Amino acid sequence: MKILLIGQGIAGTMLAWALQQRGAQVRIADGSLPGNSSLPAAGIINPVTGKRFVKSWRIEEFFPVAQNAYQALERELKVPIWLPHPILRLLNTPEESNDWAARCALPNYTEYLSERPDAGAWQAFVKPGLGYGVIHKAARVHFPNLIGRFRQQAIEAGIFEHKALDYEDVLRVAPDYDAVVFCEGFRAAENPFFPELHWQLAKGEALLLRLPQAGDITDMLKKTMTLVPMGDGVFWAGGTYQWHYPDLLPSAAERDFILRHVAEMLDAPFEIIGHVAGVRPTVKDRRPYIGASRKHANLFIFNGLGTKGALLAPYWAEHLAGHLLDGKPLDPEVDTLRVV
Ligand SMILES: Cc1cc2nc3c(=O)[nH]c(=O)nc-3n(C[C@H](O)[C@H](O)[C@H](O)COP(=O)(O)OP(=O)(O)OC[C@H]3O[C@@H](n4cnc5c(N)ncnc54)[C@H](O)[C@@H]3O)c2cc1C
Repeated sequence: MKILLIGQGIAGTMLAWALQQRGAQVRIADGSLPGNSSLPAAGIINPVTGKRFVKSWRIEEFFPVAQNAYQALERELKVPIWLPHPILRLLNTPEESNDWAARCALPNYTEYLSERPDAGAWQAFVKPGLGYGVIHKAARVHFPNLIGRFRQQAIEAGIFEHKALDYEDVLRVAPDYDAVVFCEGFRAAENPFFPELHWQLAKGEALLLRLPQAGDITDMLKKTMTLVPMGDGVFWAGGTYQWHYPDLLPSAAERDFILRHVAEMLDAPFEIIGHVAGVRPTVKDRRPYIGASRKHANLFIFNGLGTKGALLAPYWAEHLAGHLLDGKPLDPEVDTLRVV
């Protein structure tokens, strides 16, 4: 089967790989367009999220698929991709500490959460007076290594085109393929072949901070913001959520917002060495969009990974590959047919 993918962020990368694993002939086009979500992202997989510390949607199914896929790609591409890092969760109030303790006591949370009396390697850097918990089975997926190296391999194999396709181009080339799959991130909100989908795009920004003497820290640190160790004492600090935004660029207002929240967590000097922005392809009902166009039978979409591309992309790429190549039915939870 011959399949064209339009867009190679984390969605296009994982779908290309899943299709190739099943023997499909894949071609990829990506125009390196501004606002890409995967490259500025930290790639965090956090199994327990939100103010009430609840397990992420279908985490038990998605986590092992993600871990296996990223570790297999790490072996194949020979770059670090799957980086397990526990998350040190700062607990702000006695109520939060109590809620945390209650969750830790639940049998189906013991492999994910634990309490701890101090901040460990973060001790010299965090504000005093907070409580601490640890989230286990958390990881960072190195998106730039994965996407960059996968693209390099695709270029060498002669299956990658560095080009932004417009929708007329797509209609012209579609008859040459068994399927064309749009993996175009937030730009899907303008896609005329899927006008019925309900997007709620969320621009996000993050800073890169250098903390002197923090080179040995390997845990992530989370309160309102997350600090992610990137190596050599550099930390990704983010991310923000903007539902309305004038452009795709990093902004002074979001930089100040991140700095205010980092100041609530840290009692240590740091230097800002970078500032990034991108737009998350977030969906109103917070579920991916996978399925065929109602207007053209061989046009498909693989999108809507929202805030959780690292966790969701491997599982749903495999799912769509099974649908395209083996005719397996799509899960109604993600099928674009759910949209009326
Ligand atoms: C600041 C920030 C922090 C985040 N942190 C995390 C995190 O820690 N963990 C996590 O899981 N998720 C995180 N996310 C969300 C995550 O990044 C997304 O879920 C994911 O990247 C979406 O991937 P995608 O491939 O669908 O889209 P994108 O990464 O945006 O990729 C789309 C690609 O399509 C290409 N393209 C679009 N249209 C065309 C066209 N017509 N022709 C050719 N090419 C085209 C673009 O050039 C782009 O490369 C974060 C996002 C942001 C912005």
